[in-house]
Amino acid sequence: MLQLENITVRFGGLTAVNDVSLAIGSADVIGLVGANGAGKTTLFNAISGLVRPTSGRILFNGQDVLRAPMYQRARMGIGRTFQIPQPMHELTVRQNLLVAQRFGTGSVNHKRLDEILEFTSLAAKADADAATGLALTELKALEVAKALATNPKLLLLDEVLAGLETHGKRRFMHMLKDLHQQFGVSIVIIEHDIETISNLCQRVAVLNFGQMIAEGTPAEVFANPAVMESYTGAAHA
Ligand code: ATP
Repeated sequence: MLQLENITVRFGGLTAVNDVSLAIGSADVIGLVGANGAGKTTLFNAISGLVRPTSGRILFNGQDVLRAPMYQRARMGIGRTFQIPQPMHELTVRQNLLVAQRFGTGSVNHKRLDEILEFTSLAAKADADAATGLALTELKALEVAKALATNPKLLLLDEVLAGLETHGKRRFMHMLKDLHQQFGVSIVIIEHDIETISNLCQRVAVLNFGQMIAEGTPAEVFANPAVMESYTGAAHA
């Protein structure tokens, strides 16, 4: 489905992503891990069209998407969440989803939005002010709901579990598992917690200073001492 070929992203003298290649299939749930500043979000930005890679190719279902703007990539089926929840101010939860749906599909489908509200446990909050009326778990659920409203085939989840307490995290993980099964999307998730990644993902890719240093099953990857060293930030010292 998605093919990253030798993606490099430079910001001036800083190489944030360095020659990264990765193939993501239509039934994959892949964890993207690495220390702070390793380049994970920049890679998401390159895939979704927020950042133009310095070099490399991005193919989505065989089509080169590098020149396609963000909304076109969304309409092809590339959906994403943002690390910091960004609800649109002075809009209700449902209105936020409507805007996302129009952006991602070019049309409005209220039935589909009702399903998404139900699935993300936001139905009771549909008319709440999204910016002021939601708890943290609900804000995170809204990020996922907005991404789902764009009708994605590939969903890029940027630390959607971060900051949640144990119970909220567990509930959210169940939702993510169902999401893969129910909506048939493939998922790439940025997440720091090894247990969470091992629980959710079939494969893990590890970035360190922009480079992909390992890829494999969670068991393989987390047994690799070089990964653990980079992961705990020891390599930064
Ligand atoms: P975190 O886990 O902290 O979110 P990350 O792995 O997602 O980290 P990125 O946010 O992709 O890392 O950042 C990679 C590097 O690129 C960092 O050194 C960051 O400061 C730098 N960077 C990211 N975006 C920009 C930008 N727009 N301009 C300049 N430098 C940037």
